[in-house]
Amino acid sequence: MLRSFIPVSPDSHFPIQNLPYGAYKTGSGEIHLCSAIGDHIIDLFVLDEEGFFDGPELKYQFVFQDSTLNYFMSLGKSAWVEARQTLQHVLSEETPTLRDDELLRGRAIKKQEEVELTMPVQIGDYTDFYSSKQHARNVGSMFRDPENALLPNWKYLPVGYHGRASSIVLSGTKLHRPKGQTIPKNSDQPIFGPSKNLDFELEVGFLTGPGNVLGEPIPVDDADDHIFGLVLVNDWSARDIQKWEYQPLGPFLAKNWATSISPWIVTTEALQPFKIDCPSQNPKPLPYLHQKRRTTFDIQLEVLLKTERSEAVHKICTSNFKHLYWTMAQQLAHHTITGCNIQPGDLYGSGTISGPTEDSFGSMLELAWKGTKPLRLSSGEERIFLEDGDEVIMTGFAQGDGCRVGFGEVKGKILPPLK
Ligand code: MN
Repeated sequence: MLRSFIPVSPDSHFPIQNLPYGAYKTGSGEIHLCSAIGDHIIDLFVLDEEGFFDGPELKYQFVFQDSTLNYFMSLGKSAWVEARQTLQHVLSEETPTLRDDELLRGRAIKKQEEVELTMPVQIGDYTDFYSSKQHARNVGSMFRDPENALLPNWKYLPVGYHGRASSIVLSGTKLHRPKGQTIPKNSDQPIFGPSKNLDFELEVGFLTGPGNVLGEPIPVDDADDHIFGLVLVNDWSARDIQKWEYQPLGPFLAKNWATSISPWIVTTEALQPFKIDCPSQNPKPLPYLHQKRRTTFDIQLEVLLKTERSEAVHKICTSNFKHLYWTMAQQLAHHTITGCNIQPGDLYGSGTISGPTEDSFGSMLELAWKGTKPLRLSSGEERIFLEDGDEVIMTGFAQGDGCRVGFGEVKGKILPPLK
């Protein structure tokens, strides 16, 4: 197995087999792109400046001297594979170049806990899907009819809505409880005030690399070539605002106030060993959504809740990326079938990832079943939705033989509403 000269513990999310992309603020306040290994980050600006990326795709491109990944992402698979091979070679325990150069090591390698990670990509557009059958079923049962929980279109197309890119924030960003219009029980007049039903949604998002020309759809079997990598996503939702506003056009202010993502983008190359086949779909999708082989990744996901009253961290959900009904390729093919053009750095959320069991539901709405089954925490506290001071931590990794490829975490804390 490939090993780095930088020590990596077996339960680290960042072995040399991962090498995700991120960005950090240097001592002088500049933004440098970076990767992660073990408890350290690798400054890619420094390696690029030193001429390490000298393969045919990246020579004289200076892609890692930009402050965002967008240009690198736009170059496509061959450039991504080359950068990964270069990095794996430079960090390998066999390669002396960086390993034995103390001065360069000092410039290029920093402790992760000592740096501030920043947004590594300029996200132009954000779309959120609704691709977990269990989640759609749960919500349909709660708000409509358990007998006909799925709407008739759900099994024929990956349902989604266009979200808001400007309020996508990095893990760690604290968020004030939003205010808005809600409709009190047994009333036909809305009131204005802080949301009382604040929720998270456990999601995984993908970011696109090369786009398509306006008017030219991306065929489903080519879609994977447009997918650069994945992040953890918390699609914060104000359920009481959503309930009053969502008909007939879907989510609006309930979700536009914040969406949190993990700081590390895990590439689809790093996830290849964790590729698994998906069960066949019934009904068979229309030809433009029919894939020769439908695959996804086996990524274990968890949601943890930390309240202000105790130091304990409570695990409230265990789920898996593989539970999604629609693949990323099908989502992207559907998104572009009209000719809609996507661009490097666009983000696509999976939709809340709920598994088949009650402890695998990916939102408070489902875990506490619309307030009817409060979550009992070991601290003695109860929750049906999030309270001020609550911190939600999502984490995810794929477990390999002797190493894990992970995302780190996406966390966010709810602050009281602004006066
Ligand atoms: Mn969502």
